[in-house]
Amino acid sequence: MVRITTLAFLLASAAAAAQPPLQHPIDAVEMRFAASQPVVGYTLRVDSADLAGFDVEIRIRNARDTVLLAMAAHPEYDDRYWRFVERLSVRSPRGAATVTRVDSALWRVVAAGGETVVRYRIRLPPPEPTPRAAWRPFLEPTGGLVGGPHGFMYLVDAPLIPSHVAVDVPSAWQIATGLEPTVDPRIFFAPSADVLIDSPLLIGRLRNWSFVVDGVPHRVAYWSQPAPGPAAAFDTIAFVGSIERLAREAVKLFGRAPYREYTFLLRDGAYGGLEHFNSVTLGISASNLAENPYSDVGEMAHEFIHTWNLMRLRPVERGGLSYKQSGRSTGLWWSEGLTLFYADLLARRAGLPAFDSSRVAHLERLIARYFGNAGNAAISPERASYAEYGGQPGSLGDYDPSVHLQGEVLGAMLDLIVRDATNDRRSIDDVMRLMMNRFSGARGFTGPDIERTVADVCGCSVKPFFDAHVRGATPIEFNRYLRLIGLRTHVEWRPALNREGRPAVDLSLYAWQPPDQGLLSLLITNPRSSWGRAGLHTNDRLLSINGAPVTTWPEMRRILLGVAIGDTVRVQVRRPAGPFTAVVIGTGLTEPVVRIEAIPTATDRQKRMRERWQSGMP
Ligand SMILES: [Zn+2]
Repeated sequence: MVRITTLAFLLASAAAAAQPPLQHPIDAVEMRFAASQPVVGYTLRVDSADLAGFDVEIRIRNARDTVLLAMAAHPEYDDRYWRFVERLSVRSPRGAATVTRVDSALWRVVAAGGETVVRYRIRLPPPEPTPRAAWRPFLEPTGGLVGGPHGFMYLVDAPLIPSHVAVDVPSAWQIATGLEPTVDPRIFFAPSADVLIDSPLLIGRLRNWSFVVDGVPHRVAYWSQPAPGPAAAFDTIAFVGSIERLAREAVKLFGRAPYREYTFLLRDGAYGGLEHFNSVTLGISASNLAENPYSDVGEMAHEFIHTWNLMRLRPVERGGLSYKQSGRSTGLWWSEGLTLFYADLLARRAGLPAFDSSRVAHLERLIARYFGNAGNAAISPERASYAEYGGQPGSLGDYDPSVHLQGEVLGAMLDLIVRDATNDRRSIDDVMRLMMNRFSGARGFTGPDIERTVADVCGCSVKPFFDAHVRGATPIEFNRYLRLIGLRTHVEWRPALNREGRPAVDLSLYAWQPPDQGLLSLLITNPRSSWGRAGLHTNDRLLSINGAPVTTWPEMRRILLGVAIGDTVRVQVRRPAGPFTAVVIGTGLTEPVVRIEAIPTATDRQKRMRERWQSGMP
């Protein structure tokens, strides 16, 4: 792992040294010119008569005789679409040409004189049951999502090579993408392979809106799922207006937009989202919007803020383009947690309905979740960050912390520390801006960089805080920081209730199917749960439950849902040391209920700071 990372870094820095950005004023608006540079063009073709996949052609000239082509691995979601490359062929006008697969996602093309045309087809896997993942490609009779890491191969040795991309889709279809438009509405420009891979294309019969923030154009493109009845109508003024207000607050927070233009690629019938340099793919259901045009404000804000915090301001380990997954980072708690922190805060600043009625109510819910999952206070956020992407489930033993949640509460507490230390003249906003200034360029940030930046803004030492709660796993004493603004928590553990209002059973036992396709592998999320106390551990391989073999998660889930308080459950597992049988007694689940209240003896200074904090205003 370390060697791969080092190698990737050396390759990236060698490429950067060969092509430093903006050597000449014209580099800023046109292509760099170097006689030795390959010339690359792409065509992506969708045939409405065959929506089982799409075709890609890459024309390369002025390259070496041997060219390595790869499909990139996304640092968060590596969907491994190299598995769906079909009909790969190569042709050279100068004579014989060959293409050989040298690794799963890597091909070697040999063509005399470095002139070649490579063609292949991406056969789409069978569609997932709806809702589908918003970032994965799809094709339907009225549109689809294509390109990105799921579609384009790139020249491994020339990641900074620009290219033109011709998009050949049914004539009635529109194209929305973060790629640079040209005078031809079907031809786009990618200034580098990174940008090409980072810019998927939403195509089809789209609804489009646009607005301008700080002089920068923003486009909202929406693809609706064809429905048997009339399409769900929603309040488009409220919906697009909410996106515009969020964009305005984000640009205000960071001081400027880090893009030429921005495109929201929104699709019906899908969940989740994926951030890009100047676009986002996001699943938003038309029927949800028909009920509430603000239904997805939180998710929208989250993915949009990632444009700054993660895409530009990034952990140092998050390098450039790679065909090996390289998303492991100890700094993800900042990238995800602070993004969540601002998703809530910017919605409030924009006057949009946030999920919780107030900042106090929001923090109450976060703190309850923090205590409700034992891993949050038992595994350090840096360790949880490292395990989040690119690792296997179960790498944190009998805990499963949420690095997103850890990061958001750390951000909230650091905000209070900065406010207190600066007499409310500064806040985490100033930390975020300074982080952006320092670490959004050539180099990303490390853990010590975050600590130093907070210390520089507050003029105080935050080493004990980072030692205890970022690098270490000491539970956060919320009252210590809430007291700074005259607040305190009241935490009470109560029996949790199920949907029918009856005491809920502790069902915190999970399992996943390892790649060896053998027995299910168990996941324990709290060693003090009834499952943990009965001696079960994460990575135990499941043989049977109550004597019956269980080999799939749906089957296991069905059995667990039938467990009542007081029931005896015999779980037989296999371990390297041999078989083991745990006798588990169904136990009621308890959950923390958190209330935040004002301290009656708070000082005037604390009350003033509390009012300002509660307002959410900068
Ligand atoms: Zn995120």
